[in-house]
Amino acid sequence: MSQNLITEEKVFQELKKAIVETLRADDNSIRPETSLINDIGAESLDFLDINYRLEQAFGIKMARHFVLEHIEDMFGEGAAIDENGLLTEKAIELLKIRFGDNLPDLKPGMDMDEVPALVTAQSIAQGVMDILDSLPEKCPACGNSAWQSDDGVKVKCGSCGENAAYTNGDDLIKEWLTKVQEEKNIF
Ligand SMILES: [Zn+2]
Repeated sequence: MSQNLITEEKVFQELKKAIVETLRADDNSIRPETSLINDIGAESLDFLDINYRLEQAFGIKMARHFVLEHIEDMFGEGAAIDENGLLTEKAIELLKIRFGDNLPDLKPGMDMDEVPALVTAQSIAQGVMDILDSLPEKCPACGNSAWQSDDGVKVKCGSCGENAAYTNGDDLIKEWLTKVQEEKNIF
């Protein structure tokens, strides 16, 4: 379902905070289209740090693996990345469905090492929103529909006090891949 307790604006605000704390970047330099690697010098370990801060803030579990790794896991070695380390056409087709206009620089034959630079503030925020939108209608602990949020960041059950139960990021990617494969039969 699509939750309406946490706004996209709030997600972006928390993401900015996480980026500023991790990279000591200037708050004003972070825009939706900012590439964390190209524009503000993030390295792989910084992504772990930023994800951890987002997990703590929202009570979620971010994906540990990128879509490409999940494609290879589900559809076999070589499905997403060929023997030269280049993205396959099928992988590009899938990434376009997933990220659309958020990743305008995606091209077939692109080197997999170039992919992390495509990660923008907007694409991370979208990942967080997807997880937040996995909030079930009813609280799994008491069965009531009484989710609420005092601060627009953490969600609790207003009936029994349980923390919101979200699907973790990796499982969401797998669910999405399964659904797209059923609909479009790409692999
Ligand atoms: Zn409850």
